[in-house]
Amino acid sequence: MIVAVASGKGGTGKTTVAVSLALSLLEDNSSPASKLLYLDCDVEEPNAALFLKPVFEQREEVGILVPEVDFDKCTYCGRCAEVCQYHAIAVVAQKVLIFPELCHGCGSCTLNCPEGAIHEVLNVTGVIEMGHAGPLAFGQGVMNVGQAMAVPIIRQLKKKAIPPDPSQQVVILDAPPGTSCPVVESMRGADFVLLVTEPTPFGLHDLRLAVEVAREELGLPVGVVVNRDGVGDQSVDEYCTAENIPILMRIPLDRRIAEAYSEGVPLVKALPEYREKFRELYRKIPSVRLTM
Ligand code: SF4
Ligand code: SF4
Repeated sequence: MIVAVASGKGGTGKTTVAVSLALSLLEDNSSPASKLLYLDCDVEEPNAALFLKPVFEQREEVGILVPEVDFDKCTYCGRCAEVCQYHAIAVVAQKVLIFPELCHGCGSCTLNCPEGAIHEVLNVTGVIEMGHAGPLAFGQGVMNVGQAMAVPIIRQLKKKAIPPDPSQQVVILDAPPGTSCPVVESMRGADFVLLVTEPTPFGLHDLRLAVEVAREELGLPVGVVVNRDGVGDQSVDEYCTAENIPILMRIPLDRRIAEAYSEGVPLVKALPEYREKFRELYRKIPSVRLTM
């Protein structure tokens, strides 16, 4: 079972929920999962390691393949620039200019060069780190400063870490905040998306967008965790009822949770009574999937 934990915006408690879910399942002897894998897909600002404190055993540079021109063969015909949808390559007079920061690594220029004058080289944009936090397998992607493309790192992290048949494993994908391409890439292939929100008009606004991405765009079943329950209004509840989206858990506003977070202590370590609540949340997912 692959569960993506996402939120329409940052600061809703997404990592708190994802980390606590992982730790709760890890300590659950009745869990059907023989193994647990946690992937922090928020490659621009990964922070789950602050709470889980993994020891990394593998580190691999990743990136995208960008073109490099062999000028002995190039005739400056301009075909490569014509086929590049991203304006990442330009042919000006007797020069071929490549803009790696715009390149999506699609390979189209290499395939279409009539002279076979292009080969591909790896443009390193980040690293993938794999390790363990106790019995929990842990992976994260970290994008290099100044890079703009998170999607290839997320894609490579998932490809490297998730086994071809994850049915005997629980995989928790800690998605980046927001609803942009990195979020879509993180959710892709998940069996279920858990959306963390807060019961305020802002929370509702971002929840709507996140539901659009997960359910409408990717066709995935979704459930909601309401964090800081009690602070706002009923609009999130009303929306979920109208949209037939189950609220699977409520976490009240509690100063102890905020204090634990600020000290890098997972919610379920600070307040162990929440462990069973997270296990209950996980146990509800199969029946929710059947109704969607
Ligand atoms: S398509 Fe090949 S030969 Fe033509 S300009 Fe580009 S690199 Fe040179
Ligand atoms: S690999 Fe694709 S995106 Fe990059 S320069 Fe070539 S055609 Fe453009």
